Amino acid sequence: MIKRFENYPLKNHHTFGLNVYAKFYYEYSTTNDLLEILGDPLLTNHACLLLGGGSNLLFLEDFKGLVLHSAILGIEVVEADEKTVVVKVGAGVDWDALVEWSVTNGFGGLENLSWIPGDVGAAPVQNIGAYGVEFKDVFVKAEGVYMHNGQSFSIEKDACAFGYRDSIFKNELKNKVIITRVYIRLDKDPEFLLDYGHVRKAVEKLGAPSLKNVRQAIVDIRSEKLPDPKVFGNAGSFFKNPVVDASVLAAIRARYPDVPFYEMADNQMVKIPAGWLIEKAGWKGQSLGQAAVHQHQALVLINMGQASGREILVLAEKIEADIKHKFNIVLHREVNVVG
Ligand SMILES: Cc1cc2nc3c(=O)[nH]c(=O)nc-3n(C[C@H](O)[C@H](O)[C@H](O)COP(=O)(O)OP(=O)(O)OC[C@H]3O[C@@H](n4cnc5c(N)ncnc54)[C@H](O)[C@@H]3O)c2cc1C
Repeated sequence: MIKRFENYPLKNHHTFGLNVYAKFYYEYSTTNDLLEILGDPLLTNHACLLLGGGSNLLFLEDFKGLVLHSAILGIEVVEADEKTVVVKVGAGVDWDALVEWSVTNGFGGLENLSWIPGDVGAAPVQNIGAYGVEFKDVFVKAEGVYMHNGQSFSIEKDACAFGYRDSIFKNELKNKVIITRVYIRLDKDPEFLLDYGHVRKAVEKLGAPSLKNVRQAIVDIRSEKLPDPKVFGNAGSFFKNPVVDASVLAAIRARYPDVPFYEMADNQMVKIPAGWLIEKAGWKGQSLGQAAVHQHQALVLINMGQASGREILVLAEKIEADIKHKFNIVLHREVNVVG
């Protein structure tokens, strides 16, 4: 089924809670519906935006083109061996509903990625990650169609150029393909990854490690740490943690011996938490009009209620310039700016 709307409000379709509209908004529930839409003459002279849960987007203004939203559902085990199952998932499935399904069915691999907003189709786009796990760790392949001619494609893990919050879908294939289904491999006999942040402690509070307890521990940690988009619109981490040369770290360490960092496994680079840099630069809790840096989590920019997308962007730009000036580090955005 295709649902078609014109001058459609997007406020409830993204997590910054901005008062923006789409000129056209189409929702499709099968690949055939999607192919029908791709044949619509509207697409020859209108821009197109793929929208999942809108939890990684910042709209600067109304979207004057066509917003396409997948409602392709379904979670199905399509292969199994002694130790693992391969699961086919529709792009329109809510990410956390998939995590809940995996935990309920006793399949491990997704539990550390609990409570990340958004839809399954967007998970490979920025290779979502949390608490020591990235989507690439379970990813087998994605299927979808090319936007310009509707031809189908299938792409396996090795071809996806997965990196830290990065993939081929954010680069070479950006605005070229629509992911319709994702295949993931989960463990029947999961090993728990508890040595990240306070995960082990939070699990111990709940009892023995189990899929259910790990998921609950992650939900508890996240709900304490991150602002609820229903209260203050936000898109989670606004910036990526910068990966810099060891000499940049040394310069910062001379001034701040306590700077936290993580050594990258394969080279001389280190990752510094962007939230630490932003906090040290004095931005935590600061606001600009109705846009603000969250008072408990400096990596998250929030809409205090009536912010415009541009206000949030201006705040982000000021932070970027200040971090460059104070630490000689260029911050890169995790959030996709639209407009
Ligand atoms: C409170 C909060 C916490 C968060 N925590 C985390 C976290 O811990 N880790 C993390 O990695 N992220 C986190 N995020 C960011 C966000 O949840 C993820 O990036 C998520 O995968 C976005 O999914 P979405 O469906 O909302 O994508 P959208 O925001 O709708 O879209 C994101 C990008 O994917 C593209 N896209 C969407 N669907 C498709 C498709 N079917 N085919 C091709 N391209 C598509 C869009 O065009 C856009 O470029 C958080 C966000 C919030 C609000």
